Amino acid sequence: MTPSEIAFDDQWRAASAAASAIISSSAAAHGFPIHHQDDWITERFRDFHLKCQNGEIHYCAHITSSPRPAHTAAWATNILVCTDCTGFLKPEGPKATCCDRCGTDEDNLYGSFAASGPIIMAYALCEACARAAQQSGR
Ligand SMILES: [Zn+2]
Ligand SMILES: [Zn+2]
Repeated sequence: MTPSEIAFDDQWRAASAAASAIISSSAAAHGFPIHHQDDWITERFRDFHLKCQNGEIHYCAHITSSPRPAHTAAWATNILVCTDCTGFLKPEGPKATCCDRCGTDEDNLYGSFAASGPIIMAYALCEACARAAQQSGR
């Protein structure tokens, strides 16, 4: 590896660790951590990476090529923002009250996060899906 590749690798690892720390503290606060190997969330990440490849992602002005924790959302896999700009991920209209997994419109949604490397994805699930996702991750 060249020195710049090593630096990138270190940054990537630090960013991934920071992302995991954010997830863990959120999981502790909400009590509904999702295992990121759940099929549903894996599919959302696949969707996100596909949009990256196709250049369909809207970035905030602070996202650079150096790795650090960045945020997307299951309801907006075309948006990637820095920690300061997560307000842009706020769901609007009907999406704000719908489960991201089954689409059920419900008042009580369980919000949480999953990470893939330094990418943090927010999502909101109905109670049934939160339980199903939790079980499928074990
Ligand atoms: Zn930003
Ligand atoms: Zn659901």
